[in-house]
Amino acid sequence: MNSTQPADKLILHGLIITMDDQLTVLDDGAVAIAGAGIVAVGPTSEVSAQFVGPATEVIDATGQLVMPGLINTHTHAADSLFRGLVDDLALEPWLERLWVAERKFLRPETVRLGAQLAQAEMIRGGTTAALDMFWYPEVSAQVAKAIGFRLMTGPVYFDFAEPDNIPVEQRTARGREFLQEYQRDPLIVPCVTPHSTYTVSPQYLQEAQALADEFGVLLSTHTSETNAEVATVSQRYGQSPPRHLDGMGMLTERTVLAHCVHLPDDEISLLAQRQTVVAHCPLSNLKLGSGVAPIPGMRQNGVRTTLGTDGPVSGNDLDMWLTMRLAAVLHKGVQQNPTLMPALEVVKMATCDAASALGLGDKIGSLAPGKQADLILINLEQPHLTPLYDVYSHLVYAVGRADVATVLIRGRVVMQERELTTLDEASVIAAVEELGQTIKKQQIGN
Ligand SMILES: [Zn+2]
Repeated sequence: MNSTQPADKLILHGLIITMDDQLTVLDDGAVAIAGAGIVAVGPTSEVSAQFVGPATEVIDATGQLVMPGLINTHTHAADSLFRGLVDDLALEPWLERLWVAERKFLRPETVRLGAQLAQAEMIRGGTTAALDMFWYPEVSAQVAKAIGFRLMTGPVYFDFAEPDNIPVEQRTARGREFLQEYQRDPLIVPCVTPHSTYTVSPQYLQEAQALADEFGVLLSTHTSETNAEVATVSQRYGQSPPRHLDGMGMLTERTVLAHCVHLPDDEISLLAQRQTVVAHCPLSNLKLGSGVAPIPGMRQNGVRTTLGTDGPVSGNDLDMWLTMRLAAVLHKGVQQNPTLMPALEVVKMATCDAASALGLGDKIGSLAPGKQADLILINLEQPHLTPLYDVYSHLVYAVGRADVATVLIRGRVVMQERELTTLDEASVIAAVEELGQTIKKQQIGN
């Protein structure tokens, strides 16, 4: 007799990549899940004997790799509605055109569609959590709760009139309502997302920080993305974006800065000292011609670095595999040094390191008892993944998002063998297609 409660779900016979502290890998491994959480990870023979019960659902992972879901630390998910509308421009004129489209078409109903589309895309690509900066965060949060996607989002700050028509002086009060509603939510992780130092005045950046402090949540903002931004902010405030933020007490271990492309050595040291997190978005930085962030230098100096796709108008997809591959190869090429950004380090940036950087290290980012069951199964039995010598090499240099077969978030199967189980994908695609026809007629794009 064993006294252990049977598991709700057992994943058996997989190649388990735990990303735990010992980087445990199990060749014929199993994961036992009860409710939202992992109760055991170990050899299939042991775990199945101990946790199987009459009602246990068994997922056979033979020929599949099982690992923690990927974590995207910077995106604007519902911009999926505008993908391909504005391309081949520098950040500043690109933003001007994107904002025209956003102002004209974003309202709760369209943000709902964009969020559904983007979260479906992320799940299909094995992303199980994302830090999202977007208008109407309550709408994206509702979508995430319905689909079962782990979304980190919250109030946006912006000095100008914006699609949600909230005057900047009312954003803190409205934001507080959001944070109150979601502060104990099992799936939504509330945070505060002022757009940047060039679009939000010091008064409202400080309000945003005070709001984040009041609830003990993360604050995320764009920083030093382009040379033009650094010049504008330096001219306006007499110091660079990171120094300007630091002067207001906004560089902390609960700050996530997207991009940091133009960061001199002294600012790298400053971010390391403050334990501030950087979200590296290589595809967006390349496509917008912003430059190449000094990520290897940041990592060597102890800056906490993670990976993001940025929005689907910047890099045109929400593909974390492509982001990992670019992060791995870009710096090797630019610095003519192939030892930079080894595959294992890049996988960590998208899993365990991202989780701890977002303050979620006790919940997600690795497969271990007590963690939430956010995990993905990857089909290994394919020409481009055979033979397999080094799992981390394959994950960074060979796996693509179509290889993701099954996805669980909080123990719930949200994609099974490439079929989404919590969203009527066809009806969302049809509705977005219709909206796209209307947007096309406005001739906002290229
Ligand atoms: Zn962004």
